[in-house]
Amino acid sequence: MQTHFSLAQLADPHVAEAEKILRTCVHCGFCTATCPTYVLLGDELDSPRGRIYLIKDMLENDRPATEQEVKHIDRCLSCLSCMTTCPSGVNYMHLVDQARVHIEKTYVRPAHDRLMRAMLAKVLPYPHRFRLALMGAMVGKPFAPLLAKIPGLKPLAAMLRLSPGLPNGRSHHEAPGTFPAQGQRRARVALLRGCAQPVLRPSIDDAAIRLLTRLGVEVVRVEGEGCCGALVHHMGREEEAHAFARNNVDAWTREMDGPGLDAILVTTSGCGTPIKDYGHMLRLDAAYKDKAARVSSITRDISEFLVTLDLPKAAAPLGRRVAYHSACSLQHGQKVKGPPVELLRAVGFEVAEPFDPHLCCGSAGTYNMLQSEIADQLKAKKVGTLEALSPDIIAAGNIGCMAQIGSGTGVPVAHTVELLDWAMGGPAPAGFSGTAKAAQKAA
Ligand code: SF4
Ligand code: SF4
Repeated sequence: MQTHFSLAQLADPHVAEAEKILRTCVHCGFCTATCPTYVLLGDELDSPRGRIYLIKDMLENDRPATEQEVKHIDRCLSCLSCMTTCPSGVNYMHLVDQARVHIEKTYVRPAHDRLMRAMLAKVLPYPHRFRLALMGAMVGKPFAPLLAKIPGLKPLAAMLRLSPGLPNGRSHHEAPGTFPAQGQRRARVALLRGCAQPVLRPSIDDAAIRLLTRLGVEVVRVEGEGCCGALVHHMGREEEAHAFARNNVDAWTREMDGPGLDAILVTTSGCGTPIKDYGHMLRLDAAYKDKAARVSSITRDISEFLVTLDLPKAAAPLGRRVAYHSACSLQHGQKVKGPPVELLRAVGFEVAEPFDPHLCCGSAGTYNMLQSEIADQLKAKKVGTLEALSPDIIAAGNIGCMAQIGSGTGVPVAHTVELLDWAMGGPAPAGFSGTAKAAQKAA
């Protein structure tokens, strides 16, 4: 794609990067066929190619974003399906990140939108605040249908509708500390605590720690780490996202330089994608770029790490049919597709994948609250294709997808590590009871 940035514009490293990305796009349009919003809405401006044109125009003319541009860029899920499809290697992720920062800096959103975004940014990344908010949502939930009829309050209604009720207690492993390996130690890893997941489903990291320590891996909950910054990053709140990233880089660097880490493991793929990108995110920060790149280089989704450990063959086959949903952040953002399925099969699950596995379920961070109508349609499609597999369980590796899909189906939804832990002697995930052996006998 031809661009017409001035030399003065190109002196800005952000603009220079955007220009480089724009030039790689050859307008072929292959990406449109796999873009969930284009498939659903059929509007070129809701396709990757259309959005790339909008971003080009906005940045090249160095002018504030227009209402039209904001509408179509806000509708992008950042699912990155387009990056998997693109034959030209267009880095849409970094381009849309820049567009969002530009929008945040130059566009004045309506008051209700600003308020909702500020609330999400100030609540979700902080577990204590999020726990309190969930309690408040219990009171407001009955009013969700009423609020949904008032256009400006639709996101609030969606948030209340999605709230799962009272927080699910706390993980036994939430506080900073070290959980020793059973038997001979094979590796030492940090396990990201994150922000929303420990509130919504603390059993995920409990299962991960049981599983890892059983397999001879020492797990550390690092002092001082916090939210990965993804939630605010996707809202274009660059400074807040960078502050979260620097905080984590400092915390993990202390641990790497101290007792040492073989890997930083993440059980929420929506967090893994930005952490793997910290090196790029902080590339212009001389004090952090090298440390951030080092952190990114040892960050792994937990399935990527587990697949290297050779799970013991002793794990009993469960004979349960699992419909595996591949989170976009895992399959498109991190290009991790095989390991979760391989692991589930290795411990005896029958695993099936739905039709159109590349399409997003509509969760996408805060998208299901801010763009609830599109998110609901994507959820209905995804639940339909998953239920068509007649599964006993739906599995995913991202809490956002689990909450989104779980709100639309009666089939129990579990995290991949909960199922692996269950198969290897841990407790049953929510929706099942008893140990794996008991479940196997009953089956
Ligand atoms: S990130 Fe997803 S929704 Fe956004 S343009 Fe690409 S494919 Fe479409
Ligand atoms: S597939 Fe890639 S090169 Fe083709 S239009 Fe889409 S982004 Fe551009």
